[in-house]
Amino acid sequence: MSRPAQAIVDLAAIRHNYQLAQQLAPRAQALAVVKANAYGHGSVAVAKTLEPLAPALAVACAEEALQLRQAGITKPIALLEGAFSSAEVRLASEQDFWLVVASPEQLALIAAAELAHPVTVWLKVDSGMHRLGLTGAAVRDAYQRLKSLPQVCSKVVIATHFAAADELDSVYTQHQLDNFATMTAGLNAPVSLANSAAIMAWPAAHGDYTRPGIMLYGASPFLHPHPGGAGLQPAMTLQSAVIALRTIDVGETVGYGRSWTAQRRSTIATVAIGYGDGYPRQTPNGTPVWINGQRAPLAGHVSMDMITVDVTDLDGVQLGDRVELWGAHISLNEVAQRVGTISYELVTRMPARIPRVYVNAE
Ligand SMILES: *Cc1c(COP(=O)(O)O)cnc(C)c1O
Repeated sequence: MSRPAQAIVDLAAIRHNYQLAQQLAPRAQALAVVKANAYGHGSVAVAKTLEPLAPALAVACAEEALQLRQAGITKPIALLEGAFSSAEVRLASEQDFWLVVASPEQLALIAAAELAHPVTVWLKVDSGMHRLGLTGAAVRDAYQRLKSLPQVCSKVVIATHFAAADELDSVYTQHQLDNFATMTAGLNAPVSLANSAAIMAWPAAHGDYTRPGIMLYGASPFLHPHPGGAGLQPAMTLQSAVIALRTIDVGETVGYGRSWTAQRRSTIATVAIGYGDGYPRQTPNGTPVWINGQRAPLAGHVSMDMITVDVTDLDGVQLGDRVELWGAHISLNEVAQRVGTISYELVTRMPARIPRVYVNAE
């Protein structure tokens, strides 16, 4: 018998969400962002699923890209932070990794490299995120330099990243679009600007290549429902099962620190999942879980391997009943909001301890 805590990953949902990203920005090509172990979903399985659909994949760094190559992925893989050494520039040219150039130092690494094959480069522009990228007149100079280097493939994409594309009423995205247009005026280069939020909410930012991440996994980047997110299908179901049931009297407390007190005679279900499985310890009392077709509130602190749930109002809860922590019925965003974080963090920090069980591989 195995422990019931599992993350079920629906690969058909991931294919569907990728196709939705393509449909929302029909003139652009969508790179599938599979960094950080595909936001916790398992980068090899997700890359194998999307490789037939996407022109390229995207990860943060060379280590993540190599892992995909070793698993047999052959499509180009963009390194969103670029190369950190000349060895990585050579590796990129050998392995068909696309290099983001986000600084004069990264440009110099490429200019000094002796490469058997030219490397594909994306020039990163800082239009207002103020994290990575060139800015001002340096953009034009770097673009022209890259175009002249024999180590660089002739098509150089110019990219930027938004700081607040998920804030629909913010003027900052338009400000970044204007900055980007000014810095790239007349260069006639292919461009890439849009993350998931911009794919859904900022058509002016669709450009030639989009970079959907969180939406591939079925989570909306918006806190409040947005029509663009309507067709998303949650890819991950975090689930476990009831392993104990007990009734406690009024005034009795549950769990470490005694943070929950029974206001009535209460039935408490113990579920085999905890913060050691990626269900955050700071999840507050009252956060819903899904049992037998109904919502039931978390009661007491999350332990390493277990949680406790108040099922007093539910009918017929039994040992072995399946419990969904997030998935089709309890949205990742709802849990994230309760916890005071974002969906990205909840899935990205899922530990290796939780088995990923893949369904609908094809
Ligand atoms: C992670 C990342 C993305 C994907 O962002 P989402 O909000 O998950 O869609 C896109 N572009 C860059 C540069 C990134 O680092």
